[in-house]
Amino acid sequence: MPQKHLKTSQKKLLKWYETNGRQDLPWRNTEDVYAIYVSEIMLQQTQVKRVAEEYYFQFLEKFPSLLALSQAPLEEVFGMWSGLGYYRRAKNLHASAILCSDRLPKDMKSLQHLPGIGKYTASAICSFGYHQKVSVVDTNIARVLARFFGVEDAKEAQLWELADSFLNTKNPTEHNLALMDLGSLVCLPKIPTCAVSASEEVLLGCQLSESEEHLSGCQVCPLFENCKGKEEPSKYYKTKSKVYEEKKLHYGVCVKDGTIAMKISKEGMYKDMLELPSIETFCHVESLLGSFKHSVTKYRLDVHLYHLDALEEEVVWMPLSELHTAPISSLTQKALKLYKEVKRD
Ligand code: SF4
Repeated sequence: MPQKHLKTSQKKLLKWYETNGRQDLPWRNTEDVYAIYVSEIMLQQTQVKRVAEEYYFQFLEKFPSLLALSQAPLEEVFGMWSGLGYYRRAKNLHASAILCSDRLPKDMKSLQHLPGIGKYTASAICSFGYHQKVSVVDTNIARVLARFFGVEDAKEAQLWELADSFLNTKNPTEHNLALMDLGSLVCLPKIPTCAVSASEEVLLGCQLSESEEHLSGCQVCPLFENCKGKEEPSKYYKTKSKVYEEKKLHYGVCVKDGTIAMKISKEGMYKDMLELPSIETFCHVESLLGSFKHSVTKYRLDVHLYHLDALEEEVVWMPLSELHTAPISSLTQKALKLYKEVKRD
């Protein structure tokens, strides 16, 4: 794409960001690199609204610095992560804090040596935290770039190259944030809002600038004029249908004197977290408390919960009153919620 078109598009993108960007997000209003790092890890698998409203501030209040996080026991970190899911993120965050002690590295390479930090997160820390001239490519940005440059089946390395070629080196941070917002607000996976028709224009109160009046319809996207993919956006971004694996799980609930039997998970994505003891089903059918469905990563789980009078295996007796701060997954939370509902009836 000619340099002239790239420059014009960069300018339009920043202008669009001024009025349409999500500048009010809390992690965009801090210079604290640690806080930006925490937000990036939380946002990896969780929606912006949930992170902003339920976890980000609470986590930073409990662990206000990398040093504070490094000195905290992992159980406490898990406790603050409770309900956010994908606990490996919390474990990696904690492990990185221990490795760094009080300061995150300032270069992409060193950052990527830390647990749980890949190229995207390293670039986000360098761009949003340290304001370096680096490109950022997440799924939203990748989609915008593939369409804007009209590249079919773009490979990861190619997308990073495109991002580098488009980077606005005068305003790299805002440029990256603007591209990210454009991907999540306008250049949507299925139907991007490139432009709206004349009738929709009236509804939206949309107005073209004088220089743009020769174009039909109202351009919603600031990259519209030079975008190579606007005629056929689906050609440059294909939504993949997820393949799920079905699984049945059986858990037992054993409560005694205000405590509940829990086990420390030894492996898998819930490693080191507390979960209900898993049991064989055939001997407990009459004790079934209830069932529920749960989805996590590629799994569609069919979970059955049973009442148990006693347990032979080694368990941790956890006070019921402390469960809300315990390191438990959203799956276990759902099971405990079901148990409470059944008990109330
Ligand atoms: S014009 Fe359309 S396809 Fe191109 S970047 Fe904008 S929203 Fe995406």
